[in-house]
Amino acid sequence: MSQQHEHVRVAVIGSGFGGLGAAVRLRREGITDFVVLERADSVGGTWRDNSYPGCACDVPSHLYSFSFAPNPDWPRTFSGQEHIRAYLEHVADVFRLRPHIRLGHEVQMMRWDTDELRWEIETSRGRLTADVVVSATGPLSDPKVPEIPGLASFPGKVFHSARWDHDYDLRGKRVAMIGTGASAIQIVPSIQPEVERLTLFQRTAPWVMPRMDRRVTAAERWLHRQLPFTGTARRGLLWGIRELQVSAFTKRPNQLGLIESLAKANMAKSIKDPALRAKLTPSYRIGCKRILLSSDYYPALARPNVDVVASGLAEIRGSTLVAADGTETEVDAVVFGTGFHVTDMPIAERVVGADGHTLAEAWKDGMESLRGATAAGFPNWMTIIGPNTGLGNSSMILMIESQLNYMADYMRQLNVLGGRVALGARPSAVGAWNRRVQERMKRTVWNTGGCTSWYLDASGRNTTIWPGTTGEFRRQTRGVDLSEYEVIRPPGTREAASGLVTEEAK
Ligand SMILES: Cc1cc2nc3c(=O)[nH]c(=O)nc-3n(C[C@H](O)[C@H](O)[C@H](O)COP(=O)(O)OP(=O)(O)OC[C@H]3O[C@@H](n4cnc5c(N)ncnc54)[C@H](O)[C@@H]3O)c2cc1C
Repeated sequence: MSQQHEHVRVAVIGSGFGGLGAAVRLRREGITDFVVLERADSVGGTWRDNSYPGCACDVPSHLYSFSFAPNPDWPRTFSGQEHIRAYLEHVADVFRLRPHIRLGHEVQMMRWDTDELRWEIETSRGRLTADVVVSATGPLSDPKVPEIPGLASFPGKVFHSARWDHDYDLRGKRVAMIGTGASAIQIVPSIQPEVERLTLFQRTAPWVMPRMDRRVTAAERWLHRQLPFTGTARRGLLWGIRELQVSAFTKRPNQLGLIESLAKANMAKSIKDPALRAKLTPSYRIGCKRILLSSDYYPALARPNVDVVASGLAEIRGSTLVAADGTETEVDAVVFGTGFHVTDMPIAERVVGADGHTLAEAWKDGMESLRGATAAGFPNWMTIIGPNTGLGNSSMILMIESQLNYMADYMRQLNVLGGRVALGARPSAVGAWNRRVQERMKRTVWNTGGCTSWYLDASGRNTTIWPGTTGEFRRQTRGVDLSEYEVIRPPGTREAASGLVTEEAK
């Protein structure tokens, strides 16, 4: 690497909730020598990239926001994408993060330098080095489009929900929606009124509960602005309700049967045709896949210009889509709502650790980290929303903030140790953490509910979800336990009897 490069204490990658949150927290810790590297041309992550019609959060806004940046002015209980994106832009301004943010800087490769104890980072706009990397590249950031035979020669328009083509007018078109996940159920009712025909390709029916979305009244907003503790109390209530639900998901999935009855009743209100109802009734325990919230999905499916093909898309012949059950449908446009690369995180291909292997190679049998953050063989590298930090029923911002506590303590520990130093997660600690997580996973609805979902990796292991409450994760990530780490000094240093490391006299 050339000598003419910049060196920073911390390089944060990504400017979604995770990356911006990390930047605020670093500033709060008194660390200003950091950059935020973002491949896109603006901040916002998920909420910049997903601009499809109907895009909104499915966790109430007063909980789906930073605790340190409450927003008394959320317009709706479940606010739309444009408002969440504006909130993140506002966070970048209010906390004066802009000078740190490098837009248009895609991280292409990171290599751990075992002599200098730092990361060499190649970006699309040049190189830099950093003592610590905080990777906040997002769990749902790189769209996944299935390999469908004939897709390349489809003559019409094709796009993914996370890369919506706003220049393409869907009005009067025959449109195929592929997938029935969280994005698809927001898109369907939004485009159904304007398209000529909408065909939904459903491999697995989702469980759908009504979404209690409403306008936040001027009085509520006034109250939250004038008396901020009312906003905090609202957030606390929303959090508490979700914490109470966790044991049904993690320990007693049978209790979820009652929720299934409510979900079926919700469907029956809009879907009068028994044949369509049968197609839309899931065959697995509710909660096994993410429970979706929508009050207009079923009414849209009952409209005369909508067909549901209860089978996955198998092949495309010209402009005809052929489902696995042989159903043929001619369309003008195909919208993929087929999710993201989750258990095969693309950034893992771009991180080369101490032994010269990539993180993807280290994770070839499944993602594994210590407390959702660090990985054995990758010193001073941590990820926000790493393995087994996802949630089925609550706000990811709670998990992100727990991880920021961990990151802050990690930085403090490095300072206390002093000098040129790195922390490397001990393989034994990583192993113990993952054994505990996987043991608890055995009883959860995600593993026992009878579905396949994006929570599971290719081998069927759940490497994405946290099998506990967010409160428990907060306690588990309050600080760094140094006994779980090896303290690494530059070559030519020796381990002291205490277990810590002293620098060899130079
Ligand atoms: C449509 C949708 C709705 C959702 N709704 C909810 C919800 O209601 N509640 C909830 O809890 N969660 C929800 N989620 C999950 C959501 O992903 C997280 O809540 C959160 O936004 C993730 O933040 P993040 O910063 O970790 O990742 P992201 O927001 O994905 O940000 C990652 C950033 O990293 C950048 N990046 C990636 N790779 C590189 C690279 N190599 N170099 C430089 N930059 C890079 C990306 O461009 C992006 O800006 C939703 C997700 C989606 C897709």
